[in-house]
Amino acid sequence: MANSVFIFIIFFLLIVLFQLMRYVYRTLLKRQALRRLMQSGIPYIDQMDGFQFKMYLKALFQQLGYKAQLAPQSGDAGADLIMKGKKKIVIQAKRYGVNNKVSQSAVQEVYGAQAYYEADEAWVMTNSFFTKQAKVLAEVCHVQLFDRHALQALILEVNPIHTAEDIYREVKPEPRTCPVCANLLIIRHRNGERFFRCVSFPQCEHTEAINKE
Ligand SMILES: [Zn+2]
Repeated sequence: MANSVFIFIIFFLLIVLFQLMRYVYRTLLKRQALRRLMQSGIPYIDQMDGFQFKMYLKALFQQLGYKAQLAPQSGDAGADLIMKGKKKIVIQAKRYGVNNKVSQSAVQEVYGAQAYYEADEAWVMTNSFFTKQAKVLAEVCHVQLFDRHALQALILEVNPIHTAEDIYREVKPEPRTCPVCANLLIIRHRNGERFFRCVSFPQCEHTEAINKE
């Protein structure tokens, strides 16, 4: 009888020890993931507008030896960036909220842009993720997808001189007009945060986030 109690206690302690180790391991993984996230500057990318994100990617690829340029907005052949290096690559840049996945239309557009610009490769890069349909289509069209994890890995590998924080602070977001009164929106700061506010404040009290989609 005493023997079985002893075995039970040992067994119980082993389970507790196992759970404890699992907890420590998971905590370490989480901490490491958080450190990589901060190092990559992704939280700053999350706060950018689309234009700032393009400028960030441009700087990143210039450091990789590419001649990067923003595609003309008016032409709108489905590319945001055109990069010339060893290869010619067209890129669609989607700065989205993390819960807003990039759909297959981005893949279709950049695939069209690849033909239009006679590029060797077509990529879609996002701080978010892709829908299943987008992934399937990309596979068929040989379009390369960089989701949040792939983007983070690339940033950590390149270790860019112009960090996401630099670009976020130094590059102005694209000008916007107020949806309420059609006046210009201007950038304001409050508690270290930036946001757009209507130039005719306080008559018009409209404000919106820089990273509004
Ligand atoms: Zn207004």
